[in-house]
Amino acid sequence: MAPERQSLLSNAGFLVSLLALTSLVPVHAAITTPHPDYAKRAEHILKTTPLIDGHNDLPYALRRTTHNQIYNGKTPFETGLKGQTDLPRLRKGRLGGQFWSVYIGCPSDPNTPIDFPTYATRDTLEQIDVARRLADKYSKDLMYCDTPACAKKAFRQGKIGSFLGIEGGHQVGNSIAALRQAFYAGARYMTITHNCDNAWATAASTVRAGKPDLGMTSFGPELIKEMNRLGMLVDLSHVSHQTMRDVLKVTKAPVMFSHSSAYSVSKHLRNVPDDVLKTVAENNGVVMVTFVRSFVNVDNPDSVTIEDVVKHIFHIAKVAGWDHVGLGGDYDGTDELPKGLEDVSKYPDLIAKVLEHGATDEQVRKLVGENILRVWTDTEKVAKSIQKSGALPVEEVWQGRNWTQSLAKRSPVFIPTEGPANMEFGCD
Ligand SMILES: [Zn+2]
Repeated sequence: MAPERQSLLSNAGFLVSLLALTSLVPVHAAITTPHPDYAKRAEHILKTTPLIDGHNDLPYALRRTTHNQIYNGKTPFETGLKGQTDLPRLRKGRLGGQFWSVYIGCPSDPNTPIDFPTYATRDTLEQIDVARRLADKYSKDLMYCDTPACAKKAFRQGKIGSFLGIEGGHQVGNSIAALRQAFYAGARYMTITHNCDNAWATAASTVRAGKPDLGMTSFGPELIKEMNRLGMLVDLSHVSHQTMRDVLKVTKAPVMFSHSSAYSVSKHLRNVPDDVLKTVAENNGVVMVTFVRSFVNVDNPDSVTIEDVVKHIFHIAKVAGWDHVGLGGDYDGTDELPKGLEDVSKYPDLIAKVLEHGATDEQVRKLVGENILRVWTDTEKVAKSIQKSGALPVEEVWQGRNWTQSLAKRSPVFIPTEGPANMEFGCD
């Protein structure tokens, strides 16, 4: 599908370009230097409201570069890493909280059957482990949290709240029981799919590759039901547009998009279309704008600057309202970042730009953290009321499940039978 071409220059972008031409100031400098007044306002906002980003892949960077070994001095997180995230730059970027992605990729062969045993679930546990150990090791600056109350407490104590999110149902082996255990291990959101379809839903990537958008499967609502009961945030980044619509019809809790932008501004299927933005407003959820250049401007990713990201923020605010927009940079998950947003130290510049474009302090407080904290708090409330009603954990399984480790022979042990039981076990 060829995306429609977008107008490359907004009014604001055009003015900046004009200014650059007339004054011979390089465009880059004109774009990245915030006006001192806005910078001051941004600083005050970030001192008093936690900036909580929806998605950062530092744990995966640790896996790739050190096999998750963080005690041997080879990952100087406190003085500076080579990637886009480390402690000095998180501090400079005024981060108040971060959802660390405990990401493991889809099977490399897209034709891998859904029930095919993989290492994804073990590897996900390893990523949960390393993210939690990182927060423990740097506990002077980071605070591991699994509740929004803890997130607020971390900010009050001057620490960066550290929360965990899983990026795709394949990571829990398409199993609701495994999802439940990942929640108990600390994961507080799960993206319903990553770049592969799974037992629950269709991914944006497979639709982009030409497959039909089938939305959720008939097993999908069971997953959402359990996530709602547990109080796990339902993340709709990476899912297809029809999956977004289907999930929004069944979820009892508000949804999040941990790192997605606006489809009307850039016609990439990873972005959120306007009809879904309106439904997210009704659902009281939040879309956390991502900085990945090819999502921000699918037609001309090399041209993307901080101004283009601002455009997405304002579009979502216009269609869904300032109560439903947030930030989800995807640092260390991409090397495609806009000019002016090269690493985690740049958030204050983005906030200054949003103020410069006319947002009020109140609107910006919602954008940086109040909205995601509200969504998380509401998700907890929904869970409490479901649990109070006596709802049991969901034990349904995907109908294609092969039960590789179940008993080969039927045992009547737990089933009342007449006559002597024929005790046949498959595990002796
Ligand atoms: Zn992602």
